Amino acid sequence: RVISDQPPSANDYIHIKASDVERYSYVKRSLGRAISNDELFIELQPQYDGLNNVISSEVLLRWNHPHLGVVNPAEFIPIAEENEYIAEFGLWVCNEACKLLKDCQTQHIDTKLSINISAKHLARADFVGKFLAIVNKWQVPHESLTLELTEGALIRGVSIIQYRVRELAEQGFSLSIDDFGIGESNLNYLQDLPIKELKVDKVFIEAMEGSEQKTLLVTSICNMAKALHLNTVAEGIETTGQLDQAKACGCSAFQGFYLDKPMSISDWRDRLGHNSQ
Ligand code: C2E
Ligand code: MG
Ligand code: MG
Ligand code: MG
Repeated sequence: RVISDQPPSANDYIHIKASDVERYSYVKRSLGRAISNDELFIELQPQYDGLNNVISSEVLLRWNHPHLGVVNPAEFIPIAEENEYIAEFGLWVCNEACKLLKDCQTQHIDTKLSINISAKHLARADFVGKFLAIVNKWQVPHESLTLELTEGALIRGVSIIQYRVRELAEQGFSLSIDDFGIGESNLNYLQDLPIKELKVDKVFIEAMEGSEQKTLLVTSICNMAKALHLNTVAEGIETTGQLDQAKACGCSAFQGFYLDKPMSISDWRDRLGHNSQ
């Protein structure tokens, strides 16, 4: 559609809608073949402590579609969640992460990984069994894996998700609340559930620049986290100023483009090698 100054007509809306539906069903159909066609891969983004040491890395799923190119996870993850592919994808990512951890172990590289788990996947009856089977197949110490969940999941899923969180924590895995502060916040779960870490969403990190109130808010989140013995990861650090502010607020770890963009496995290995010298 040609962009014009004219307000869109009803036809334009129909057109936009139709193409969205087409794209949705095209993506949905293609997702079903993504694993067997070997189209998925992972990238890694290190998380640093205040002294610039890598303490863990987040595993991020990527999909290289033969015609669409690399599709943004913000587009395909929700479609995968609606169509039951998410469990398959989650287990695929878990397998890649464990394989990589095993590799690192063999080379005496001591590192940890964080993986994103969809609430839809976590709620499935077969989640723990299948997840543990993969982790144990690669003989990965449970302590080296963190599972990131979004905060909405803990509130909306209520009992089954909370039950899973306890089950996984008992098995030695760390649980992290992703995008903390932007969901429907219910601070109750922070006290009641065995959670290790809050990832302060990047909207707060961005907003701190030039806003004393937002800086105060992040400081308060960090203070609350400390009182509950939780770590805080500042997400989406894009500038040196944001890094300094996040440090001043008391965040315990830092992740973002300023430190490292998500990178290929081989670049990540180079980065870790460099870090340990
Ligand atoms: P997330 O878990 O909050 O991951 C962080 C996202 O922020 C990533 O986007 C990362 O590339 C991006 N990011 C990191 N640093 C910066 C920064 O400094 N500035 C900006 N603007 N962005 C930054 P990505 O890779 O596109 O992933 C988007 C979301 O897709 C993730 O958000 C996560 O919710 C979901 N996702 C990614 N991989 C998986 C997966 O394996 N499983 C599931 N269930 N979800 C995943
Ligand atoms: Mg995450
Ligand atoms: Mg996040
Ligand atoms: Mg996110």
